[in-house]
Amino acid sequence: MKHIMGKQGKIKNGNNKAKHTKLLNQKKSKIREAKALNKARLKSIMVRKNQLEQACPCGIEQRYNMCCHKAHIAIEEVETAEQLMRSRYTAYVMADIDYLMKSHHSSTRPISEKDEILKWTKSVEWLKLEVLESSEGLKNATEGTVEFKAYFKENGIVSVIHENSKFVREHQYWVYLGEV
Ligand SMILES: [Zn+2]
Repeated sequence: MKHIMGKQGKIKNGNNKAKHTKLLNQKKSKIREAKALNKARLKSIMVRKNQLEQACPCGIEQRYNMCCHKAHIAIEEVETAEQLMRSRYTAYVMADIDYLMKSHHSSTRPISEKDEILKWTKSVEWLKLEVLESSEGLKNATEGTVEFKAYFKENGIVSVIHENSKFVREHQYWVYLGEV
């Protein structure tokens, strides 16, 4: 009996040890996960910070946070049709699909193509924007046009979107209506 009890005690101790090791490993892996998460979070903050401080993709010689970022966080602040056009280009560069939808007139907004547009804009490399001509679309106007060329690389081939776009005000702010 004594012999058996001793053996059981050993098994129990062994089990406890295994349980303890398992718990310890779980704890360790949780710490590892938390560290990795923190690292990823920090990295995304740094990427965001760099993005804010980088030259704005729209071609204006300004940092993003002093240029299209202002439109991206408050579309109501956009003063001209050209500014809105530039902020939409930057939104394509940054794959900000929500802004692309928001800055589109409700009557022509391509809601059903949202996923497709997002996938496409992420797949191409945006090269530059050239604004060729703006007419009307100033601070107190209600409509205007902007002719532009947007260059991008798709599957290694440089392409250009050349469009004369029409912009109008909807809900007090500038939105893209479509091609003239
Ligand atoms: Zn800009």
